[in-house]
Amino acid sequence: GPPMPPAAIRTTCPYCGVGCGVLATPDGRGGAAIAGDPSHPANLGRLCSKGAALGETLGLGSRVLHPLRRTASGSYERIGWEAALDAVADGLKSVIATHGPDAVAFYLSGQLLTEDYYLANKLMKGFIGSPHVDTNSRLCMASTVAGQRRVFGSDTVPGSYEDLDSADLIVLVGSNAAWCHPVLFRRMQQNRAQRGARIVVIDPRATATSEDVDQVLRLAPGSDTLLFAGLLVHLADRGLTDADYLARHVEGYEAALTNAREIAPSLEAVARGTGLDATEIAAFYALWSETPAVVTAWSQGVNQSAQGTDKVAAILHCHLATGRIGKPGCGPFSLTGQPNAMGGREVGGLANMLAAHMGYAPTEIDRVQRFWKAPRMAQSEGLKAVAMMEAVEAGRIRALWVMATNPAVSLPRADRVRAALGSLDLFVVSENVLSNDTLAARPHLILPAAAWGEKDGTVTNSERRISRQRAFLSLPSEVKPDWWIIAQVAQRLGFADAFAHAGPAAIYAEHAALSAFENEGRRDFDIGAHAGLTKHAYDALQPVQWPAPAARPLGTPRLFAEGGFFTANGRARMVPLAAPALASAASEALPLLLNTGRLRDHWHTLTRTGLSPRLSAHCAEPSVQIHPEDARRYGLTEAGFARIANDHGSVVLKVALDPGMTRGSLFAPIHWSAETASHARIGAAVQAMCDPWSGQPEMKATPSSIEQV
Ligand code: SF4
Repeated sequence: GPPMPPAAIRTTCPYCGVGCGVLATPDGRGGAAIAGDPSHPANLGRLCSKGAALGETLGLGSRVLHPLRRTASGSYERIGWEAALDAVADGLKSVIATHGPDAVAFYLSGQLLTEDYYLANKLMKGFIGSPHVDTNSRLCMASTVAGQRRVFGSDTVPGSYEDLDSADLIVLVGSNAAWCHPVLFRRMQQNRAQRGARIVVIDPRATATSEDVDQVLRLAPGSDTLLFAGLLVHLADRGLTDADYLARHVEGYEAALTNAREIAPSLEAVARGTGLDATEIAAFYALWSETPAVVTAWSQGVNQSAQGTDKVAAILHCHLATGRIGKPGCGPFSLTGQPNAMGGREVGGLANMLAAHMGYAPTEIDRVQRFWKAPRMAQSEGLKAVAMMEAVEAGRIRALWVMATNPAVSLPRADRVRAALGSLDLFVVSENVLSNDTLAARPHLILPAAAWGEKDGTVTNSERRISRQRAFLSLPSEVKPDWWIIAQVAQRLGFADAFAHAGPAAIYAEHAALSAFENEGRRDFDIGAHAGLTKHAYDALQPVQWPAPAARPLGTPRLFAEGGFFTANGRARMVPLAAPALASAASEALPLLLNTGRLRDHWHTLTRTGLSPRLSAHCAEPSVQIHPEDARRYGLTEAGFARIANDHGSVVLKVALDPGMTRGSLFAPIHWSAETASHARIGAAVQAMCDPWSGQPEMKATPSSIEQV
């Protein structure tokens, strides 16, 4: 008979935190046809430009296909896996023997699958005994994690994407969702078109998101806390709070209100500090307080701030004060940046977390240690990304293993990061690609890791939904999945029993069992329904929103409508907020605030989207956006070249005049690197001022100068 048509494999998109379901139909020649999965609740069949072009990014031309070792002469030689794994294990042993376990660290990524992330954490925090595991999620949503943990007692997004379909008001704060979460933005627009929902965008910059909405508040950079403290005062003064919800489920309201009055004593004070008109602020406050079904969603404009945690808390306070949380169509909503930033949070990918949302309280250390039968548990929080790189620079960290991320581009003060990486006694990188800026720092070992389409595991999207990523291509050449590489190194370090997993299904089943271990509803992250899952059931796993405890296997769309916060007394805690201020102010020498972010059709450091001609066509080269008046003032012309400089570094970019820019600010994309455009690595000019709670660096307002070159 005729040949069977190739079967489509259900998987998820490797880019943003929307976590769209993808149908991939392999063509038998290493490629695949890509379509949106109509059955996936995140996207219901839709894909954005990036997801739709995934098929163009599957070639092997730029891939690293076998282990490589740096030789004495500085070149790289191909070696076998045995030699590579022995070299990593021996290198780690040698550094631990000389400098102790605290001299070794892993720097991980929201691109890893949950199973990879889980094993890396288990190895470092339970068996090597160092707490120094951090991740590029530190640059992404660490402030949301810290804000939610402070206020809710747990890192829990209360709502669901469905709330964006049923809200009557959607407020987007510091989010260019039209470009960065396109499929969700389309759901919001559809709600507006079909149900008349209003959309308000709060952002210093005019973006694609603010083009066709109901209100745009172009507030001054760094003034978000002021705006939302003012909203809390507005709600209180007009008797619009939910006294019953506050009385039953919240503590610290009176103190938080006093604090909000100090920050925002009057509408005029909010207007002065935000640079907005009092009338537009009043209109926004009236709309917010008169609309019961309101979702306030935010992204990196809130998170990537030295006051990001307070900004998050200021938003959470307004929702708690009105009981607008966990009910259909309302709640605070963090739009996570990366495909698996949340999965990483779940397993302890952040240096201040342990596993299954447990922290470093003595009882939690003890619980995880007993579950893992761990010989050498880390006893206190590890170094967060920026501090980790400072410790590398200072020689306190001597061995670093980077997996699935490109810190020499993405971290603040990228030039210093790149130089510091070159000073390590042991520098290992697990990568898909053969060349990037982190590899240019000359790791001792380069390990060829499986890419999207080749690897199996799970990811968690912004609405707490765990979905499978499934392989639809075979592993090329000597490429291996990250979990396997980690387990092999762990076995060589003497931990064979604890790292004997047969594959991702077994790792996930263990992770699920840990989440339920001595939990009894005390911790938010519980996927006990999946404890001991068989490989067959894992392969058939349907997308599910955690918590999914044993008694509720279908998961949980919403939390906190009736309280039940994961604090000791079950109440949310309103917290005092610092007076809003930028980490560093502009000066005469550095008069412009440099803001960095994403473009519509590219992802991170271009290693995948750069392969697609269609995606590169949208924006073929990097540029710096500046208001035309500012350009005139600094003698810049459209398409001329300009140097952006400050104490940290400098970059040279083409000038793009944009009347949508706020005066006194610059915007440059994060995507290009020394490998793709020699002087365009914007991370070199980003300061490393961090939020005191989250350790997340301020990447939206670095004082800088600009001049024509
Ligand atoms: Fe969906 Fe985001 Fe992928 Fe676009 S990039 S298809 S919105 S997950």
